Amino acid sequence: MALRTPQRPARPRGPEHARSCVGCGVRAERPKGSFELVRFALLPMTSEVPEDSEESRGPLMPVLDLAGRSFGRGAWVHPTRRCLEDASRRGFARAAKAEVSSSYNELVDALQEAAERRAYELVAVGVRSRKVVFGTTQVGEAESWLTLVAVDAAAQREVDVARAVASGLALAFGSKRSLGEACGRELVGMVAIIDESLATAVRDAIALSLAVAAARGM
Ligand SMILES: [Zn+2]
Repeated sequence: MALRTPQRPARPRGPEHARSCVGCGVRAERPKGSFELVRFALLPMTSEVPEDSEESRGPLMPVLDLAGRSFGRGAWVHPTRRCLEDASRRGFARAAKAEVSSSYNELVDALQEAAERRAYELVAVGVRSRKVVFGTTQVGEAESWLTLVAVDAAAQREVDVARAVASGLALAFGSKRSLGEACGRELVGMVAIIDESLATAVRDAIALSLAVAAARGM
């Protein structure tokens, strides 16, 4: 059950109960997993400084905590341009009650990189646990929860995109080389995710990377 109190929690390392965006102030219903909100830990810029020294009162910096493991003191933000900009300008500092050194561009770079890496890591884990299949025959026969089609494979019509779409939700993502790397092959044009919860996790990671790309492009 979520409890909201006006004060900061007494234990700074505990999971935050109030998961409101520090950019717009709106509270998200289901921040965990879905990346409706993303978490940044607000950490001292130098890690060697003892907690109670003078230097520990120096500026903090936001460090992306995509898995929401809640290390350090943290703040939740919508992965949109407006909220990331507001968080960077004053939201983080307001949440931490301390100076926070933050740049919008760095937040976006960190988010994009982490979201894409997570998607590829999940595919790689799925290949090892046989929850992801690749290759034309295997994908064609799979009961897929989500099919990923490499952007360059789709452009060159190397894979049967129509069949991918018909077999379930298909998303264009990555390149033959990057999907291949995740599968331990040189080039892979299409993968099918045959596990429901893994498909949801991959879809969430890709949705975040698309949201961040949109925030960057505007
Ligand atoms: Zn927001």
